[in-house]
Amino acid sequence: MTLPNTYADGNCPLARTLEVVGERWTLMIIRDAFYGVRRFGDFATQLGIPRAVLTNRLKSLVQEDVLTREDDGVGGIEYRLTDKGVALWPVVHALMNWGEAFYSPNGTKRVLRHDLDGGLLDHDGHCRDCGSAVPVPEIRIEPGPGFHSAGPEVDPVSNAINTPRRLLEPIATARTPN
Ligand SMILES: [Zn+2]
Repeated sequence: MTLPNTYADGNCPLARTLEVVGERWTLMIIRDAFYGVRRFGDFATQLGIPRAVLTNRLKSLVQEDVLTREDDGVGGIEYRLTDKGVALWPVVHALMNWGEAFYSPNGTKRVLRHDLDGGLLDHDGHCRDCGSAVPVPEIRIEPGPGFHSAGPEVDPVSNAINTPRRLLEPIATARTPN
C-alpha cells in the first residue's frame, strides 16, 4: 500500500522515505544486503518472499539508487547497496536494537562488534572498546545468546548469515539466474 500522492509529493522527507523503504519486504531486502546477500535466488531463499514481489521490490530499490544491479562477471546478476543504501544502516541498526529490546525474550539474537578489536557496538554505532564511530564495513555481526539455529539442514544462505562475518561481505553461494 502506498500513501496518497499528496503525502509523497509534499515536503515531508519522512513521508518520502517511507515511500522508498517503509514496506516490510523492502527493509528485509536491505537488511539482507547488509548481511552480504547479493543474488536474487539468495534473497528469495533467505526471506521466503514471493518471487514476483522480490522482482518488484528490487526494481524499485534500483530505481531509487539504493541498490545497484550489475553483472557479476560470470553470467549472473548481483545487487549491491549504493552509498545511499549504506546510509540506511543507522535506520536498520536502530530497528534491530528496538526489536532486540522488546521482541527478543531469550536474549540478544545478533551481536554487533567492531571487527578490528572485538568491541561491542553501542546503540549509536560506537565501539565500546576504542570509542570510534565504526564504519559499516568494519562491523562484525555474530549470533548472540538468544540465537537458536534451525539446525544443520538449514539452507546455505542462512548458514552464511548466521556465521560471524563482516557486514557487506558477500556470502558465497551457487550462482542462480536473474
Ligand atoms: Zn573498536
